[in-house]
Amino acid sequence: MTAWLLAPSPVHARKMFSASSRVCALGTGRQLPVQVPSAPQRAARRTRSRKRLSCSTETHVHLVGFGLAGAALAFYLCERASQSQRLTISVVDSAGAGCAGGATHASAGILHPFTPRGRKIWLGDEGLICMREILGVISEKDSSPVARRSGLLRLATTDREAADYAAAATQMYPQQLYWDAARSQLYIPDAWVVDAPAYVRAIRRYLERNHSDKLTLWETREVRSVADECRRLQSLAEASCAAVTFLVIAAGASSRLLIPSLPLTWCGGHNLVFRSQDLTWPSPEFAAASTLTAGFSSTSAPGSVPLIGHGSYLVPTPDGTRVIGGATKEYGMTATEVLKAQSRSPSEQMARATSALRQPLSALLGRYANLAERYAAGESPLSNTGILRDPLEALYGVRALPPRSALGAVPLLGEIQHEALSMLASTSIPENTRVLYFTGLGSRGLIHHGIIGRLAADAVLRGESVVSLGSVASPTVLSSVRRAAAAAVAAS
Ligand SMILES: Cc1cc2nc3c(=O)[nH]c(=O)nc-3n(C[C@H](O)[C@H](O)[C@H](O)COP(=O)(O)OP(=O)(O)OC[C@H]3O[C@@H](n4cnc5c(N)ncnc54)[C@H](O)[C@@H]3O)c2cc1C
Repeated sequence: MTAWLLAPSPVHARKMFSASSRVCALGTGRQLPVQVPSAPQRAARRTRSRKRLSCSTETHVHLVGFGLAGAALAFYLCERASQSQRLTISVVDSAGAGCAGGATHASAGILHPFTPRGRKIWLGDEGLICMREILGVISEKDSSPVARRSGLLRLATTDREAADYAAAATQMYPQQLYWDAARSQLYIPDAWVVDAPAYVRAIRRYLERNHSDKLTLWETREVRSVADECRRLQSLAEASCAAVTFLVIAAGASSRLLIPSLPLTWCGGHNLVFRSQDLTWPSPEFAAASTLTAGFSSTSAPGSVPLIGHGSYLVPTPDGTRVIGGATKEYGMTATEVLKAQSRSPSEQMARATSALRQPLSALLGRYANLAERYAAGESPLSNTGILRDPLEALYGVRALPPRSALGAVPLLGEIQHEALSMLASTSIPENTRVLYFTGLGSRGLIHHGIIGRLAADAVLRGESVVSLGSVASPTVLSSVRRAAAAAVAAS
């Protein structure tokens, strides 16, 4: 039986587990008492879990958080459970399951498999395949689209970027990237724009329509601690007579408030939303004809191809009605700052977003105008140059950043060991209760949520256990995860 756990490095993984007894009640910083179960307690627990195993083969998964991570996991659990497998799922989300609070709510919706330097994101290709697979399954004929293949234009603003993009397009991925040296722009044809909150809502509707037998509960409630949730889960599990119950923490940035030892850092961010008729830019033009750009340069409507450059972006929504401009990055936030930032009023978010984003977004448009050589230097392609002062709304979310590794940002997926779990919950937890976490999607939730959600669902459905800490996220484990991902998408 294979088993794996994803963490950025063995050192982090060890820290996560050895530090898991340092548990604070949410938002208070108060240390909870640690209680290690005694030998008789452990024996009683084993008897209880054996009893349950004999009464049913049901697996119950209790998801805390229904953003991109929770939605992908729920989707793949339902889709990949065998007919004979008895699976039930309950979901609790403080914003209302399917309402996509958290970072998903603030996402600009950019999806493609390349890093800002034109390299491939780890599991980027597999992630894109999974995302397209989910979209193919959940798409609803009569609703407005939640995603669109838009292509994307990345403007090189330094010599180093230009060199990176030229190398990526001409030497590394000539079939997937187009470099226009005359205009210093990199074109990515297979890039998508996704309305992330609408996408999560569409997953929820799909699950309700097609898997209502598996979904036992959607709850709008804030989970305050893993301990509380374990206790609730025990009664849920008793009621359903589940043989194995999984509590999955997929609460985005708040995951670290619930499991303080997770090696996440917080990075708040604003986006501004504009009406598309108020803000547009010309379609890209390319210096030479290319199969990669055919179909886009001539047929795409103005403002329909997203622009990135100067650390900013302008992204049309899939239905073409709005444009999202962003984003700010507030690195190094503390827990108190996260909670405070999330409770700011809409007018305060708007004031902060507008003051931080007006200049960089104008610079991006100005830069594009000059590169496109359609306008005299300095002349803006904005249809209404005053519009940056008049956005529709400001979006705010906190990214949960995983530590950097040699492979870049690798999301966090793993299981809390049973002994550590009892200490975390400061109570004895039945052995058939397992606590997983799926978070750390950072700034790339769209590319990673599907593939990691799928791998996590497979592990849950097969009842796989977690590897010994020594090999956690070693290059061997990561390449075996990659092989598993490739095999999974190949089998689709
Ligand atoms: C400004 C901004 C722009 C971004 N743009 C992009 C982009 O263009 N492309 C891209 O791929 N990624 C982007 N991202 C990143 C992306 O949004 C995230 O990686 C992704 O949404 C994270 O999903 P998640 O499910 O892990 O967390 P979240 O989306 O934060 O979801 C967590 C869920 O858990 C719930 N929750 C939290 N705490 C509790 C609790 N205690 N009890 C119950 N429920 C709880 C929340 O309500 C929420 O629904 C952006 C992020 C930001 C902030």
